[in-house]
Amino acid sequence: MPIAFDNSYARLPERFHALTPPTPVPEPRLVRLNGALADELGLDRDWLASPEGISVLAGNAVAPGSTPIATAYAGHQFGNFVPQLGDGRAILLGEVLDRSGVRRDIQLKGAGRTRFSRGGDGRAALGPVMREYIVSEAMAALGIKTTRALAFVLTGAAVMRDAPLPGAILTRVAASHIRIGTFQFFAARQDVEALRLLADHVIARHYPQAAAAAKPYLALLEAVIAAQADLVVRWLLVGFIHGVMNTDNASIAGETIDYGPCAFLDAYDPETVFSAIDAGGRYAYGNQPGIVLWNLTRLAEAVLPLLATETDAAVALAQAALGAFGPRYQAAYDAGIARKLGLAGDSEADTGLGAELLGLLAARGADFTLSFRHLSRLHAGLAGEEPLRAALGHDPALDGWLARWRERSAGTTRDAMLTVNPAFIPRNHRIEAAIAAAQEHDDFAPFEELLAVLARPFDEQAAFADYEDPPQPHERVRRTFCGT
Ligand code: AMP
Ligand code: MG
Repeated sequence: MPIAFDNSYARLPERFHALTPPTPVPEPRLVRLNGALADELGLDRDWLASPEGISVLAGNAVAPGSTPIATAYAGHQFGNFVPQLGDGRAILLGEVLDRSGVRRDIQLKGAGRTRFSRGGDGRAALGPVMREYIVSEAMAALGIKTTRALAFVLTGAAVMRDAPLPGAILTRVAASHIRIGTFQFFAARQDVEALRLLADHVIARHYPQAAAAAKPYLALLEAVIAAQADLVVRWLLVGFIHGVMNTDNASIAGETIDYGPCAFLDAYDPETVFSAIDAGGRYAYGNQPGIVLWNLTRLAEAVLPLLATETDAAVALAQAALGAFGPRYQAAYDAGIARKLGLAGDSEADTGLGAELLGLLAARGADFTLSFRHLSRLHAGLAGEEPLRAALGHDPALDGWLARWRERSAGTTRDAMLTVNPAFIPRNHRIEAAIAAAQEHDDFAPFEELLAVLARPFDEQAAFADYEDPPQPHERVRRTFCGT
């Protein structure tokens, strides 16, 4: 058996999923295989790249041991509850145990219609598949919990969006594809038995320590709250904007999932929104922590019947668990900013220095990533003050700030900042250029080069220094689309 599947989610009762083989495509072409990830999963990369393997990655064949399913979930989309969403364009092939014994999902995104497709075609276009591939792999290289991209095939069939676009399928790997919306699906149906089965599955799979707690389901809720708090801090520290933080796009395992109109900040402005469908700015960069808490509150509501038999008691437990979010988030954020500044982070003065620098960046519209990298190089002795001063438009307010920062950072490790402040992030204009080259000229060289640079975000890569640069005014991408 080329892939040693063991499909625990498919063994859950029928109302959790719909058995759905992928729909074949005319002319599969493997554009990229993530060999390192294949190795990590214990998969045979040569087999995956063989005609037989490509058939599986394109949905033209079902591998032995695979139980292809579309999973059921609900979700709040932009604040409105939709009782049934589910995998409308994704099919879970099954699970494998990776080299470290961790259970991982292997899913095809764009593999055809399912019971949950509603009006959609179940397909994905080249651009969104490339964007997800690039950004999810960049997030992994940045050390942020995320779903991964194992492979990307072109289908040989066009998908109809505003115009016909090349169809593509992404093979996505995740700790699991269970979402806050999966719990909401059963809560909305008052199916407490399913809620319990789901919670037991999640505890066994993601939070085994909760099983030993006095109240395992409360411990599960607390663990998800902690995981989501830590995740959103990591997003903020690299300038990531998810773009569609609906509860169906919130992973129970605490991974970044469902890359749609996501993008990274160039200029620092907490109100930044890229997603074309986020007209109200609900999912703006700076709103993300509040939205995570909002989503976690929906999770807490969904699992109330598991927390206690009396509703009042359950609500009290849920509220106490949610109350831990704020302090955990703030402590992790403050510590993260202190690390970005090369400070010990053990005093209010450090927190103040962080807030002040962010204020300067915002006032000057300075590039978030580059400013921190310039400061890191200054601290490491790789550069002087000039690049940072230039990035901040030679703001005279920087003088006083630098003097105080020097005082507080004097004793800290010289190159530590270089390991937390990336030089390379998947900048929007680079992603769009890679997509355009592929779409218009079947040229995947810019995509490959971008992936290679982003795989080493903290290294100095002098030959690719221009990948550090923010967009020129004419290159700036202001809007991103989910492309569904
Ligand atoms: P997402 O944009 O990934 O958060 O998707 C929201 C919902 O729409 C999910 O239930 C998806 O499965 C569904 N969906 C998105 N695109 C398509 C499509 N092309 N065909 C069918 N369903 C889709
Ligand atoms: Mg989604």
